[in-house]
Amino acid sequence: MNDSSDWSVDLGGGTRAALIQAGTFRSDAGALFGPVPRLLWDRLVTNEIDPENRLLQALNCLLVETPSGRVLIETGIGERLPDKTREMRGYEGKPIVAAMESAGFEPGSVDLVVMSHLHFDHAGGLLRADGQKAFPRARIVAQRAEWDIALDDNSRIVASYDQPELRLVHGWGSGGAVDGQTELLPGVSVIPTGGHSKGHQAIIVRGTNRTLAFFGDLGMRPWSANPRWVTAFDDFPLDSVEVKGELFARAAADGWLIALSHEPVTPIGRLTPDRDRYRFDPI
Ligand SMILES: [Zn+2]
Repeated sequence: MNDSSDWSVDLGGGTRAALIQAGTFRSDAGALFGPVPRLLWDRLVTNEIDPENRLLQALNCLLVETPSGRVLIETGIGERLPDKTREMRGYEGKPIVAAMESAGFEPGSVDLVVMSHLHFDHAGGLLRADGQKAFPRARIVAQRAEWDIALDDNSRIVASYDQPELRLVHGWGSGGAVDGQTELLPGVSVIPTGGHSKGHQAIIVRGTNRTLAFFGDLGMRPWSANPRWVTAFDDFPLDSVEVKGELFARAAADGWLIALSHEPVTPIGRLTPDRDRYRFDPI
């Protein structure tokens, strides 16, 4: 899928969401499936696993148009990765600013940038290659707890976040931080989830006809629909299992559309109850 404008959803009442893929990168397959034995997941990825045992991960962002403002959800990896790291992560494709422009959106028109959390593959696009703000007018929204943990000196935290980059955007970015569940604009809310990271949040967009939910890295790929299938990157896996169970139950009961954070081929769908878990049905 190259043309991100194919994935536009009308939620009603003047609210629309367009999926914008800000390139792709590669993650170790075993780490993406965490505690799940390979015997159970191997068949799901037979055709996509590469010789280095990695899976292709899309950097899915959403551009949400509402009568009260324009919201970008997630920013991908961005333009500032050193060549060596770029190669190591298998990062390819258009970063967010170029991807938005190709889809016909002007980065300067964004009012709010909302991120599920601040890992490198979600917060990397806040700055242009030259260090200028990529979204000069925007308020940057993450949970305050996420800013706090992102700059912690625990060595595992240091490895999950790009702290030198986050320090560059901290003054601008943390000024827009929120504490807990918050309605940012009419119809656009964030719900703290924790789990994947301490201050991780879900983003819910409600139009007059439909609701679209973005669960960040608690809903990366179709198989994330099983609340117990959490990645090895989740810092608080028991919290992930619990909060996924609660949110997915609401999503299934109310028929929410779901946008997955890293699914390259079928990023939008719905959750359907399936035995003691859920199933992701693409639309
Ligand atoms: Zn991610």
